[in-house]
Amino acid sequence: MKGMALLVQKYGGSSVGSPERIQAVADRIVLSRNAGHQLVVVVSAMGNATDELIELAHRVSRNPPLREMDMLLTAGERVSMALLSMALSDRGVSSVSLTGSQSGIITTSSHRRARIQKIYGDRVRHALDEDRVVIVAGFQGVSESKEVTTLGRGGSDTTAVALAAALGAESCEIYTDVQGVFSADPRVVPHSRRWSTLPYDLMVEIAHRGAGVLHPRSVELARRFDVPLWVRSSFTSLDSLSIEGTKIMSGSKISDRGMEEFSVVGVSSDESKLWVDLELMRPTVVGSIWDFARQAQVAIHQPSFSEGKMRFFIDQETEAEWKKALEKLTYEGFVSKYEVSSHWVPVSVVGERFTQDGAALCQVVDSLARSSIFVTMGAASPLVITVNVPRNRAKEAVQVLHETFFQKI
Ligand code: ASP
Ligand code: MG
Repeated sequence: MKGMALLVQKYGGSSVGSPERIQAVADRIVLSRNAGHQLVVVVSAMGNATDELIELAHRVSRNPPLREMDMLLTAGERVSMALLSMALSDRGVSSVSLTGSQSGIITTSSHRRARIQKIYGDRVRHALDEDRVVIVAGFQGVSESKEVTTLGRGGSDTTAVALAAALGAESCEIYTDVQGVFSADPRVVPHSRRWSTLPYDLMVEIAHRGAGVLHPRSVELARRFDVPLWVRSSFTSLDSLSIEGTKIMSGSKISDRGMEEFSVVGVSSDESKLWVDLELMRPTVVGSIWDFARQAQVAIHQPSFSEGKMRFFIDQETEAEWKKALEKLTYEGFVSKYEVSSHWVPVSVVGERFTQDGAALCQVVDSLARSSIFVTMGAASPLVITVNVPRNRAKEAVQVLHETFFQKI
């Protein structure tokens, strides 16, 4: 129907984790619809279904082909989309479930880490015009050569924002098991505060530094296409439907401090990273490391070089690929020694105006030293300060830094 606001809602794995949860999501959708919205609903696989499918694959194969992994993993989202559509049908709501491919989500061809290239939204629009709720399987698409692909773990958020951008939705709402974006993980810092609004650029940094609340690529898309993005809990009662949560949008002011003073919005540690320490035979070998990373499409985080050494963080899920590549470079005589370890964890403080003077960095280093937390490799940019701390002190470091920047009330 014309003239109604189009919303994209996304429900994560815990939100659709059981038949009862799926019923609750269906109830929520009915309310949004009664409020007069057109709805596209993106779903994740139920609970730990994706982990279970991965485990299953490794029980039948030592080295499952990536293509077949994608065929397998996309099944998880198919289950939840079909079940949700059934639950809506019981409530008298006309709906249709579509896979990523059926929704026209075209991606690159790299299995398990495909990127969205474009979305042909006509099938979704057509169903919306027929007054249906359109349920789309998250985290998946299809390549130009018609192969089914997945977007990487946690990719359903990115499906949702990409659809919102392509369809010109009014906003995109990510429903999860927390009530929004907090100044630190509430499980680590119980008195952390929830933000009611956050600007895109800071949320991009928060998402990239281990906060886990949103898939980083989804926030980058929201920023690029100016899609207002909500993070909300699907576990709250239905009467508080629209109030609570965090809205990520352009130009939101985050602090009442002095006009030019630095401010902090988040403290986090990223335990999903591994530390790589290399001794290179020649400085030019650095190029080969980057070539590998580019070809394999694996990320290098916080690289640093000095006197024949190179150090950086990698994503845990790329460990096997890195080890294979580093083994080869060692064998070929480019690398004399390498170590991949879990010893260091990056702890980050995200905010604004960090490089105006040394004040914020000084407080970070100072407060950690006072708690005898040993720090290496500090780095500051205008929006982020990162230090590496030993893994077994990471949570404590987050608590100490949160205490430093947000006085307990
Ligand atoms: N089900 C996928 C995963 O567990 C995608 C997602 O939940 O966003 O990674
Ligand atoms: Mg997620």
